[in-house]
Amino acid sequence: MSLEEYKGVWVFLEHRDGQIVPVSLELLGAGRQLADKRGVPLAGILIGDRVRPLCETAFQYGADQVYLYDDPIFADYRTESYMRAVIACVQKHKPETILYGATSTGKDLASAVATDLETGLTADTTMLDVEQETGLLQASRPAFGGNIMATILCKKHRPQMATVRPKVMKALPPDPERRGEIIAESLPLREQDIRTKVLKIIRETQSKVRLDEADIIVAGGKGLGSKEGFQLMHRFAEAIGATVGASRDAVEAGWIDHAHQVGQTGVTVTPKIYFAIGISGAIQHLVGMQNSGLIIAINKDPQAPIFQSCHYGIVGDAFEIVPLLIEAFQSA
Ligand code: FAD
Repeated sequence: MSLEEYKGVWVFLEHRDGQIVPVSLELLGAGRQLADKRGVPLAGILIGDRVRPLCETAFQYGADQVYLYDDPIFADYRTESYMRAVIACVQKHKPETILYGATSTGKDLASAVATDLETGLTADTTMLDVEQETGLLQASRPAFGGNIMATILCKKHRPQMATVRPKVMKALPPDPERRGEIIAESLPLREQDIRTKVLKIIRETQSKVRLDEADIIVAGGKGLGSKEGFQLMHRFAEAIGATVGASRDAVEAGWIDHAHQVGQTGVTVTPKIYFAIGISGAIQHLVGMQNSGLIIAINKDPQAPIFQSCHYGIVGDAFEIVPLLIEAFQSA
């Protein structure tokens, strides 16, 4: 394999309910920068059924081209059919780099494609750049429990691939005038060639917590002492229109569902305001919220590590301070 043959940056365009998902739009923003640094085009790869209109969205957000597989066989995401489409497209057009959102679909697809193509994949990337001398993709991610940032290069194989966490890259403002080229692709794939079948899609009826999209998060930790104590977080969140987050210890104590957990094994969040209440500030928690716009910590221990990582800190008992804040907001 000659590495020089591989050119261009691609973004896998994941879609749901007729829309490109936000992380793919963010990746078009990040991919645009990488492509401009390398002086190559930015392409999207779009797979689905009746998805052609989404190409326009991809162009508006920065893509120059879209490789399009539009066929009823791709109506539902299935690892086998989607990976075959990506692999066929890679073998034909030879991209240097492919980025995927670190979603369930993106992680599943990227790992299957990487295995089949015997190329490298950096998972859960939080920073992307291009190495100046070599032009190699630099994909960085927290490692060793968030204590270091590891920068990973894929030197000997192509394409260089990475999954990227939602909300860490920025989408470009859409330009409605921007146009691009649709490159229609097809695959001689029959239903009997695919070993899996989607029998039924059962949608979650419960409203799902969208921590990663929240503007304000009120996160509570073990310092709240009990499930009843944790109710204070719900009251505070309601008073200020926030979403409730939690440390892992609060989740493990059974005070709140895992969907609310912030951190290394929870969700990465970047709200405008993050309240950390009764949370000590362990590194595994910090990696999930340290890019928040404004971090306000409330902790009764002045030595708590969270005070090294916040913009404003209040030393005191959460059960005295939070009710005062609720009262102040309610009377404002
Ligand atoms: P503690 O560390 O017990 O801190 C409680 C704090 O509350 C203390 O600072 C105390 O001073 C304060 N406090 C007590 N009473 C009050 C009061 N009345 N008012 C105000 N303050 C009070 N953790 C996560 O959060 N997210 C993760 O995703 C995550 N992933 C992990 C992955 C791995 C592999 C490992 C090993 C650990 C992970 N952890 C994670 C756990 C992490 O290391 C910490 O154990 C956890 O974050 C601590 O939670 P906490 O701050 O709520 O509890």
